[in-house]
Amino acid sequence: MATASIHGCCLTSSTATSLAQPYNSVRQPTLRRASITSTLDSSTSPPTLIRSPVLQLLLICSTIPMGILSLFIHFFQRKEMGNKTYEMKATSSDNAVPSDSSVERIKEGFIYFKTEKYEKNPALYGELARGQSPKYMIVACSDSRVCPSHVLDMQPGEAFVVRNVANMVPPFDQTKYAGTGSAIEYAVLHLKVEEIIIIGHSACGGIKGLMSFPYDGTTSTDFIEDWVKIGMPARTKVIARHGGEPERFQCEFCEKEAVDVSIGNLLSYPFVRAGLANGTLTLRGGYYDFVEGTFDLWTLDYKFESSLSV
Ligand SMILES: [Zn+2]
Repeated sequence: MATASIHGCCLTSSTATSLAQPYNSVRQPTLRRASITSTLDSSTSPPTLIRSPVLQLLLICSTIPMGILSLFIHFFQRKEMGNKTYEMKATSSDNAVPSDSSVERIKEGFIYFKTEKYEKNPALYGELARGQSPKYMIVACSDSRVCPSHVLDMQPGEAFVVRNVANMVPPFDQTKYAGTGSAIEYAVLHLKVEEIIIIGHSACGGIKGLMSFPYDGTTSTDFIEDWVKIGMPARTKVIARHGGEPERFQCEFCEKEAVDVSIGNLLSYPFVRAGLANGTLTLRGGYYDFVEGTFDLWTLDYKFESSLSV
């Protein structure tokens, strides 16, 4: 439970109602389908991508103890691709010749998007060209299997998204966590999103790390252990309640508990608390199980209490 005082009231977060249900309960996905009109466009010519090298740099950093590091940076001339993009590649000397299949994949992917989506939805993309007004801010894991726009069938412009290892929201800290903090600040104060949804997921490597790192003063990673430690309250709770259960079950519990820890951390941001107090912001937790194909959604249950001055 997290408590914060604001505007003379006491804002208390409590466990989300749907979490009162057993974790092994299966709920049906709660999905909201986008209602954005598509309009066919008469433009039919596909964009082209022609590489034209104009600069190649070779940097040799001989001071690196591990040896000589050669870095080739190839800049390719900006080439019209619907006036929207250009190509730049950076490769290490160990793989100086990039895979053509990789480039082709990117090229074909953009061409498909451009012809089948961008050019066929001028109303949507014309509106987005003028600005964004997303209803949602979503915090999701960087895991390649859990893209929230894909899983929730959201169109561009619907969600302002932050993705990081284990979908963590750190507590308010202007120096240590400026990256996540600036995204939350921008979403709440400037975009004025109506909802923040933190989405955990099954088989999360970051949560598995949180549950398995020793945290005994030794470290084996430069960043990961310290980052996922944000979810330490979830790990502590899971070990206390389910320490005797198999590791994979503990990780599943922790994947969901860590979402609630992040929701609690959101309350340490003054503008988030203000949004809750004003009734302009809702906080939700979500859990996407890509093994079972289910999506759970729950809402922060909070209440205001009058603060006492003694
Ligand atoms: Zn993950």
